[in-house]
Parts: sequence; structure tokens; C-alpha cells
Amino acid sequence: MQDKIYDVIVIGAGMAGLTAAIYAVRANKKVLVLEGKTHGGQIITTFHIANYPGLPKVSGVDLMNSVYNQAKELGAEIEYAEVMKVKDEGEFKSVITEDFEDGSDEGKYLARTVIIATGSSERKLGLENEEKMTGRGISYCATCDGGFYKDKPVAVVGGGNTALYDALYLADVASKVYLVHRRNEFRGDAFLVDKLKTKENVEFVLESVPVKLIGEKKIEGLEVENLSHEKRTLTVDGIFVAVGRVPATEIFTKLKKDEGGYIEAGEDCHTNIDGVFVAGDCRTKNLRQLVTASGDGAVAATEAVHYLG
Ligand code: NAP
Repeated sequence: MQDKIYDVIVIGAGMAGLTAAIYAVRANKKVLVLEGKTHGGQIITTFHIANYPGLPKVSGVDLMNSVYNQAKELGAEIEYAEVMKVKDEGEFKSVITEDFEDGSDEGKYLARTVIIATGSSERKLGLENEEKMTGRGISYCATCDGGFYKDKPVAVVGGGNTALYDALYLADVASKVYLVHRRNEFRGDAFLVDKLKTKENVEFVLESVPVKLIGEKKIEGLEVENLSHEKRTLTVDGIFVAVGRVPATEIFTKLKKDEGGYIEAGEDCHTNIDGVFVAGDCRTKNLRQLVTASGDGAVAATEAVHYLG
């Protein structure tokens, strides 16, 4: 059991978590990173990151593989197991993963401090058959799946930067792009909207919400409804959903969260439980970007090191 005690357990191997690991191992702490899926976090679906200082042309995968290798080479242990529960047991927090079975120590880890860096997942539209149609015309990642829709009509849903970037990307691939947004103003950057307006194959479908997925075995259309309750069917082969994200924080039931589910913490990344810190997109904050995730990771690890004394 002794070998499973860590100074710091980081939950999540995205930019925030891996940066935290780098800072904690460099402070000579024994560090384990637990990741449920693939290391790298949400940015690995971004083909070209334009706003990460010093690396103007890097892809999400290349950047995150490099950060992952850096953390490993410095001495962080990284394991793939989904965390199901964290229990505060005073000096130690026990971190229970999916591999845990009662009566065995498998899948249970002890840590003096925990850094939560679980990020967020895509918000769904909430329409009937959405899950069944995922991969059959519904996608949450234009740069991953856009290539399947060469010269075919598609819809993008959302009005933030993700939707705007997706629509721009798809305008060069698909025959037609309907940009469906529930308001007539965009949350995303005006320069992206201006660029989209120059694209002949992009049609703005504003003040409209998706109400029904059309198609039995694969997507054949999207029914939308406007503010006057008029319905219209867009004939499309693909629907790219970009309506924001939800924080992956459900399992942390004892932590204070805001109404959106984000774990409450200030710039020092301290949660309401001693020895538990939060970093990156799942923290309450104004700007969720790679650089702020990375900044959080550094701060959370440094605070954890101070806590360890
Ligand atoms: P977001 O900014 O939260 O935008 C989500 C959009 O989806 C909003 O326009 C929202 O409409 C709409 N929406 C939410 N729920 C909906 C629903 N149930 N039905 C229909 N529409 C719904 O999310 P995001 O675009 O994913 O961006 C997240 C963060 O990443 C932002 O800070 C963004 O700037 C950043 N980002 C940056 C880049 C970059 O390269 N710089 C790229 C992508 C994203 P309302 O506007 O009406 O609320």
C-alpha cells in the first residue's frame, strides 16, 4: 500500500493537469496523474492553435504530446483510469478509480493533496436520438469529422467562437453550411462573423433553435424553429454541435460549485476543502483558454507544495 501514497494526485491529463504535474515534480514531489480517457484534453481536437504564445502554428495533438512527454520525463507517473470518487480522510484523500473492487487495494490511491483538472465535456442539444445519431451525422468536432462531409450540406449549431471557427472550417469543405444560432447576435468574435459573411456557401439561420433530428439510420436533416414558432427543415448530411461545454465535476459532491457546476475557487485555486485544489476549465473563472489552464496548473501545484510544507 505504501507505494500508492502520493504527495499530489492530479485528476485529468489536459493542459491544466499536466502543467500541475510538471510544477509538482520539479518541486520534488511524488506525483500521479490519473486520466480516464486520452491525455491532452479538449484541445487535441483543434487542428491549428493560433493563440498559444510562441507556437503560432502548433496543432493540439502535437502541443499536448509534448507537454505529456515533458511531465513523464520529469518523473510524473501517469495512469489511465477513470476516477469515480475522492474521499477526504484527513491527512490523506483517497482517490478511487473504476478498477477498485471492495476488499482489494487495486484502483485505490492515497494522496496528501489532490488537484482536480477534469475540464469539461461537450454540451448536448438534448434532442431525441442525439446519442444514437452521434457518429451517424452528429458530431461535436468539426476538425475531426469535417472531412467526411466533402461537398455535402451541413449545419453548425451555436454562436460562440467554436461554432464560428467550425463554420469557417466547414465552408471550405462542405457544399453548404447553415449556421444555426438562437439569437441574432453572436457570443463569438465579430471578425469571425465578418469572415463568415464573405463565404457564399454559408447561410445564417438566426433566432432559431434545433427541434428535431431527421433521419432513421443517419442524419438527413435538421428541423429548426424560429421565434415566431415557424418550423423549417434544413436538408443536411451532418450536424456539428458547438453549444458550449459542461464541467466534468459531478463526482465532486462535497466541493462548493456555482450554478453551472464549476468548482468555486479564486486565482489561488483553493477549494473549500483543505488540500484539494482545482485548475483549468472546471474552475470558476472568466477566461477558459489554454494559457489560463496552464497558468492554473502552475498555481495549483505551487499551492499544493506550500500546503505540503
Ligand atoms: P460558448 O462561448 O459558451 O458558446 C456557446 C454557444 O452555444 C452560445 O452562442 C450559446 O448561445 C449557444 N448555446 C448554448 N446552449 C445552447 C442550446 N441548448 N441550444 C442552442 N444554442 C445554445 O462556447 P464555445 O464556443 O465552445 O467557446 C468556449 C470558450 O472557448 C470561449 O471562451 C471561447 O472564446 C473559447 N474558444 C476560443 C477559440 C480560439 O481559438 N480563440 C476557439 C474556440 C473557443 P447564447 O450566445 O445565446 O448563450
